[in-house]
Amino acid sequence: MSRQLTLALSKGRIFEETLPLLQAAGITVTEDPERSRKLILPTSDADIRVIIVRASDVPTYVQYGAADFGVAGKDVLLEHGGEGLYQPIDLNIAKCRLSVAVPAGFNYANAVRQGARLRVATKYVNCAREHFASKGVHVDLIKLYGSMELAPLVGLSDAIVDLISTGSTLRANNLVEVEHIMDISSRLVVNQAALKLKRERLQPILQAFEAASSTMA
Ligand code: ATP
Ligand code: MG
Repeated sequence: MSRQLTLALSKGRIFEETLPLLQAAGITVTEDPERSRKLILPTSDADIRVIIVRASDVPTYVQYGAADFGVAGKDVLLEHGGEGLYQPIDLNIAKCRLSVAVPAGFNYANAVRQGARLRVATKYVNCAREHFASKGVHVDLIKLYGSMELAPLVGLSDAIVDLISTGSTLRANNLVEVEHIMDISSRLVVNQAALKLKRERLQPILQAFEAASSTMA
């Protein structure tokens, strides 16, 4: 059995906010993914490497065992479904919320009350479908892959379901948050087979992550 461990991370906030957790486990990533074009990054531990993948691809790499563990947002995990993944720890990083937003003049409460069929653009179709179904609101969901804020401004949709942290992108586009669906943070995900077969290598890292992330709650 290989002693090598592969950790899947996405560039940007997840990479940046995972670094202190790795540090707590005594691991330093020795190359910067923003500067390097390498997709496989070495660490200070010869047995541990980091692969850089798209945020929404992290669960897939871990599910199939191409990575032993990874860090993914709750949003990504809910959309993926989480098959084949063990999710032991909420890392309390990359915090934001999933919300409904509409153009500033749009009377959302009234549209919902009148039972109008809402057009909602989102990347998070599963979460959005479940949210509106639980409220008994009829929606037509329009799947987008980015820049959801644009959709209601050009008549593609009445509303969007998107991640919000400071709200500055909404404000810049004259949109307002009208409903909070859920709080989002990133989780550690572990391949189920790796958890058994590489337990000895993984356990101390998981413990260090857990201890360090509990101080961020
Ligand atoms: P890409 O930018 O490649 O299209 P992405 O938007 O899913 O993919 P990131 O922007 O790096 O990737 O977001 C990664 C994760 O960080 C998201 O899945 C979510 O959990 C969290 N996140 C997204 N937006 C915010 C935000 N504004 N504030 C805090 N966390 C966020
Ligand atoms: Mg993004």
